[in-house]
Amino acid sequence: MTETANVKQYDVLILGAGPGGTSCALALRQAGLKVAIIDKSEFPRDKVCGELLHKKAVETLNTILPGFEKEFIDFPKTLVLKHTRVHYKKKTLTFDWVSESYTCPRLQLDNFLLNVVRKYTDTEIFTATTPDKITTTDTGVTVTIKNSDVVFTAKAIIGADGANSIVAKQLTEKVLDRDHYLGAVRAYYKNVKNTDNITSEVFFSSKYNLNYLWVFPIADNLSNVGFGLLSSNISENKINLKESFYDYFKQSPELAEKFADAEQVSPLEGFGVPLGSTIGTVSGNRFMLIGDAASLSNPLSGTGMGNAVLSGKIAADQLISAFKANDFSETYMKGYDNALQSAIVDGLYSSYKAQQTLSKLPFLLDLVFLLGKNKRIRKYIQSIV
Ligand SMILES: Cc1cc2nc3c(=O)[nH]c(=O)nc-3n(C[C@H](O)[C@H](O)[C@H](O)COP(=O)(O)OP(=O)(O)OC[C@H]3O[C@@H](n4cnc5c(N)ncnc54)[C@H](O)[C@@H]3O)c2cc1C
Repeated sequence: MTETANVKQYDVLILGAGPGGTSCALALRQAGLKVAIIDKSEFPRDKVCGELLHKKAVETLNTILPGFEKEFIDFPKTLVLKHTRVHYKKKTLTFDWVSESYTCPRLQLDNFLLNVVRKYTDTEIFTATTPDKITTTDTGVTVTIKNSDVVFTAKAIIGADGANSIVAKQLTEKVLDRDHYLGAVRAYYKNVKNTDNITSEVFFSSKYNLNYLWVFPIADNLSNVGFGLLSSNISENKINLKESFYDYFKQSPELAEKFADAEQVSPLEGFGVPLGSTIGTVSGNRFMLIGDAASLSNPLSGTGMGNAVLSGKIAADQLISAFKANDFSETYMKGYDNALQSAIVDGLYSSYKAQQTLSKLPFLLDLVFLLGKNKRIRKYIQSIV
């Protein structure tokens, strides 16, 4: 640190203001800690996503901040979904959700969450601020900022900076595992036939084994349409994901009909989804990783916002006890790994096993369709996606 550095001191630094980082800041609001969020983007900012939020994510946020659910449902860009239609080989199965799910465009959702943090906490928020070098020592954490003399210091740091986390890159030995990583693309459409504001749809194709194309209704009469494949599949078979997305429509007469009058109103954009199935390094001396930085997306559905929110809460609980014990050591932080294992990772393992079984034995998808008529089996399927 140079003598002229402008030093900002905190108890906790949260890098990243997505669903994980904002949930963590909300969960710390009554802990009496001085917290800062640093995000490299200017808000509102988009994030490539299917934008479907499971009920569980909203329930967790409601536990963190009673009253959140009502505020979120009242938010004008939120849609409350009640059904999912699944299409495969000209068959359709409709799931009536045990509890609702939601969609909300990330451009507005993440800004809404950041405003909730502004409203209910004393967290200091630094957007358009790009961290550079992160250093942890026995006494604290230091983060320098690109093109700036500002230096942030804290007792502990949370890596909530998504799939390309620099906290994970700089503080762990993390390498990209293509068998546990999805490449995914998404575009917005209007005038898609047979859509309503309460039904999400997924289309399976026998060509793109197991992977599905989603059509989710979002605010302003738009559809969020996307598709993802395992990165190992993409690289081994030299697949062009964007071409495959459009090819998917040709493979399916139902999709061709559904999109006959549709207009694509945004570019097709791609992003990675780090899948969870086993737990990697998610903590260490003075740090914890949450959400996509910790690779916690569901291997079967690719959804990750719910686990970003839940891991944000678990990390906040761990931080509160670390401050009480004044212990931020690697050993003490393992408490976070243990809590994460039982609350999230064990469940992801079941989804991973189901994903593996279905990809090796694709005919099981036909069986799922047959058995899916049974209410109890539909309920089980809903519990692992
Ligand atoms: C195509 C696609 C479709 C998806 N569909 C769904 C879905 O329908 N439902 C669902 O639940 N999940 C879905 N996901 C997964 C979901 O997007 C992520 O799991 C979720 O966004 C993770 O939240 P997070 O807070 O961990 O990270 P993010 O939402 O990625 O937020 C990370 C934040 O960190 C900031 N940041 C990044 N790098 C830095 C840096 N170096 N320094 C400072 N800040 C930084 C970013 O600007 C961002 O604000 C999808 C993902 C993809 C790619």
